[in-house]
Amino acid sequence: MKILVINCGSSSLKYQLIDMTDQTVLAKGLGERIGIEGAIVTHETPGKEKHVVQKPMETHKEALEVVLESIVDPIVGAIVSLKEIDAVGHRVVHGGEEFASSVMITDSVIAAMEACSELAPLHNPANLIGIHACMELMPDVPMVGVFDTAYHQTMDKATYLYALPYELYEKHKIRRYGFHGTSHKYVAERAADMMGKPLSELKLITCHLGNGASVAAIQGGKVVDTSMGFTPLEGLVMGTRCGDMDPAIVTFLMEKENLSIAEVNALMNKQSGVLGISGVSSDFRDIEAAAAEGNERAELALAKFYLRVKKYIGAYMAIMGGVDGIVFTAGLGENSKIARAEICKGLTGLGIEIDNVKNDMRGKEAFIQTDDANVALMCIPTNEELMIAKDTLNLLKG
Ligand code: AMP
Repeated sequence: MKILVINCGSSSLKYQLIDMTDQTVLAKGLGERIGIEGAIVTHETPGKEKHVVQKPMETHKEALEVVLESIVDPIVGAIVSLKEIDAVGHRVVHGGEEFASSVMITDSVIAAMEACSELAPLHNPANLIGIHACMELMPDVPMVGVFDTAYHQTMDKATYLYALPYELYEKHKIRRYGFHGTSHKYVAERAADMMGKPLSELKLITCHLGNGASVAAIQGGKVVDTSMGFTPLEGLVMGTRCGDMDPAIVTFLMEKENLSIAEVNALMNKQSGVLGISGVSSDFRDIEAAAAEGNERAELALAKFYLRVKKYIGAYMAIMGGVDGIVFTAGLGENSKIARAEICKGLTGLGIEIDNVKNDMRGKEAFIQTDDANVALMCIPTNEELMIAKDTLNLLKG
């Protein structure tokens, strides 16, 4: 079974072709600057030379044509014919309340996805463009939608409601949804495998710490809480996003700084987080480097970031009545021993203790807790593409 995984952004198209018999990546690549000057597709088939196509690509369909040509190219390609592709799995950011799991894409599913676009205006329309382009170019291949929000649909109502007038939930569907669900699901399943226990018997806290960052509390394989909310702005301090703050700051800032709705939105999403505090960068590598050289604001940005993750870990232990394992994943979680150590610092009283020797590694699966710690600490590289391919395969079989 060969599954093509597609992740479309507003001007990008990421893809992987995965052979599900042994979960190997047959080909992968990235289309960038679609619809703008300098469009480029970079294609890689393991063991073959990298293939770069630079030409005007006005639409995602044109970029996808280049991708499909590259995949079957006799020299740089991975397969002989597109007929070998059994299904396409599409990453879709927002599934609203409609989608609690992945689905076969039909006309009515597309209509429901369009209705969710209002909740993710930057992402869902791009995902839908990718779906339409694939349907046009591969009309006979089954398509599956895998939603970032779906895994979090198990949260109970008291958790997902905001304390706003209830009618606003009914009228506008204003509630907490959570994101990064595919990543949280993947690492939770891997954690259960590593711990040698069924997921149904475990209490896990999964920390997806990348440029965007979120934490999830997963009890018995079901998400009971997660840090992102109505949008991916809530929760942790992120690369450029502020995360949790007093909502009164929004109107205060609009008045004092004479900001428009768009400006205050950009301030919270693009100019805040560790970038906003440090003034150095949104990239954790740059901030760690600046902090190591004594830059106080870089140190402060990191301290704020670690503290917020710690608060969520404590809160989620309280919600679940304890925790069996904590997972660190995504760019920072997988690669920064400093971040993992600082987040766990001072939590020995809760049974959480990191082993500095075991923690001295990056980018691979490992247990990093001390021998006498009660809570398993794990570094697990995420693999959202494989999770999408697995869900696609399951639906195809089912
Ligand atoms: P992601 O969004 O998952 O791609 O993660 C991106 C973030 O991970 C960026 O802020 C990177 O600086 C950070 N990151 C990647 N590698 C490292 C590393 N070796 N040390 C610290 N941060 C890293």
